[in-house]
Amino acid sequence: MLISVASGKGGTGKTTVAVNMALSLEGCVQLLDCDVEEPNAYIFLEPEISEVRPIRVPIPKIDEGLCDYCGKCAKFCEFHAIAVAGKGAIFFPEICHGCGGCSLVCPKKAIVEHAKIVGEVRVGKAGHVELVYGTLEVGEPMPGPVIREVKREIDRKKEAIIDAPPGTSCPVVESVYGSDYCLLVTEPTPFGLHDLKLMVQTLKELGIRHGAIVNRAGIGDRKVYEYCKNERIPILLEIPFDRRIAELYSKGVPFVREMRDWKENFRSLFSNVEEEVEK
Ligand code: SF4
Ligand code: SF4
Repeated sequence: MLISVASGKGGTGKTTVAVNMALSLEGCVQLLDCDVEEPNAYIFLEPEISEVRPIRVPIPKIDEGLCDYCGKCAKFCEFHAIAVAGKGAIFFPEICHGCGGCSLVCPKKAIVEHAKIVGEVRVGKAGHVELVYGTLEVGEPMPGPVIREVKREIDRKKEAIIDAPPGTSCPVVESVYGSDYCLLVTEPTPFGLHDLKLMVQTLKELGIRHGAIVNRAGIGDRKVYEYCKNERIPILLEIPFDRRIAELYSKGVPFVREMRDWKENFRSLFSNVEEEVEK
């Protein structure tokens, strides 16, 4: 089963849920950290890294000796990464998505592609948890290729958990796409509710079943609970606003390592998700 863990905003406890659930399950489990702009699951798991792989994307280069400035490449590029005017062609690498289309449409074969490194993927192990995470090069605007490479490591024969990036934009969609179920980590505050609603809309569009986890339960108000009830979104777990959990988090310790009773809660959570998927 492939479960993604997402939230409309950062800091709600997504990684806490993903890491603690992975540690609580028995047998080999994959954890894929797709928050490639700021991966942090490795901080809690301290894995032994066995593989580091650079991620390259093809970037076009215009040979002005062959180009006749017909403008077909610029017309084709829906990202406006090429501009052709008069006897000049300008390429904007920072907005190029590396799709390769411009070189295919160029009648003069004036566009060649060269590989650009945009990040890397690391594979490692921490006990029974196989961790895969990506890091995007500083200044690179598009995390998509790195997220896709992280997801290529998914082994559908194993239980796999995706830690999605915060927000509801393209990297989140790229991360959760193909999941059997998505756990939405929220908190019982107006901000939590606002971002939860956005994420629910996104998942409805994608047709991905979902349930909620209320983190820091006990603070704020009951509006998140009312919303979930009205929308028939099951609340599968509540994690209380607990000083001990916060202290362990601040030391980079997954709380199930010290508060062992919680392992059973995460196992039940996983079983409940399995039941939801089979419905
Ligand atoms: S399509 Fe080819 S020939 Fe035409 S402007 Fe682009 S690079 Fe130049
Ligand atoms: S590779 Fe694709 S995105 Fe990049 S310039 Fe060419 S057409 Fe545009």
